[in-house]
Amino acid sequence: MPGQGHTLSSIGEFGLIDEIRSRFSQPSAPDFGIGDDAAVLTPSAGMQILVSTDLLSEQIHFDLDFGTARLLGRKSLAVNLSDLAGMGAVPRWFFLSLSIPANLPLETIEGLLDGMAEQAKEYNCILAGGDTCGSKGGLTISITIIGEQRPELILKRSRALPDDDIWVSGSLGDSALGLQLLSQGKRINSRDDYLLLRHLDPTPRCNLGVKLAKSGLVNAMIDISDGLLADLGHICEQSRCGAEIKLENIPLSPTFIKHFNDPETIPWSMAITGGEDYELCFTTAPGNHSAIKKISKTAGIPVTVIGKVTNSRQVIACLPNGNFFRPSASGYTHF
Ligand code: ADP
Ligand code: MG
Repeated sequence: MPGQGHTLSSIGEFGLIDEIRSRFSQPSAPDFGIGDDAAVLTPSAGMQILVSTDLLSEQIHFDLDFGTARLLGRKSLAVNLSDLAGMGAVPRWFFLSLSIPANLPLETIEGLLDGMAEQAKEYNCILAGGDTCGSKGGLTISITIIGEQRPELILKRSRALPDDDIWVSGSLGDSALGLQLLSQGKRINSRDDYLLLRHLDPTPRCNLGVKLAKSGLVNAMIDISDGLLADLGHICEQSRCGAEIKLENIPLSPTFIKHFNDPETIPWSMAITGGEDYELCFTTAPGNHSAIKKISKTAGIPVTVIGKVTNSRQVIACLPNGNFFRPSASGYTHF
């Protein structure tokens, strides 16, 4: 390994592919991945294949100064794993395409690959190929992930029904607050680590997603990447219904609450439109509370009912005093 001070030009494209290959375990027979013109993959019997792609572009999705390259590697795969979690699918393989500035320090790429390999191992997801090219701009990381699930268990956005309970996993807003602190110059190894890491190293809810799918109790599900309001809005749009959520029921972490000394100053917009939570939002027919709570307990991830699916076509958030809350933004959009 060439080590510190070197850039990609010292090992070249094929040197880099070797570096990549050496870090990730390879598919086992009869499948094969890196090294051929195309990967050959065999889904498990009776399973349907689910494919999702995410593009991470420097200065748009990440800032290399905010965290370590290792965390960026973990997050690049985590956001893709989260898309599969949102469908209740089990991760199997992924493809990694990199567009890299020639002067990027080799140790940055090595850190990125190490973090990604760590995450891949945790979720049993195999790197089956990719593409590599130079960049005249910043670093771009594109991952295509492939998962599988039995056709009847796959969870979609389009099957929510009026009167369903709306649930979310974990807590909302931590990542948006973490990003705000990073933008203000805070870095990891400070007392703000929990919030910063919720942004820099999100945990995809794969295990919970698969358990919910297997339960057969969930009508619609989505992973929250653009903010609760926007993503719940996608469920409502595709299910042709509306939603009413109560802000007092939105799960917030103790760290998030503590950050705002006075409960009156909780920034609800940040919690419900901030984005990059990578939690799950799902709906179930009423009356399934204890079954869903049991699943949440075995997955080790708390879940909370935040409202109801309605017959209207609007997504409404209510303040504790019953007034409608109008957020300052509806969620992240690129253009
Ligand atoms: P081609 O010229 O046919 O595109 P490449 O020389 O780009 O082939 O790639 C050679 C092999 O290395 C292929 O199996 C490809 O999937 C793999 N590969 C290339 N880049 C990456 C990458 N960034 N991550 C994983 N595998 C890669
Ligand atoms: Mg190529």
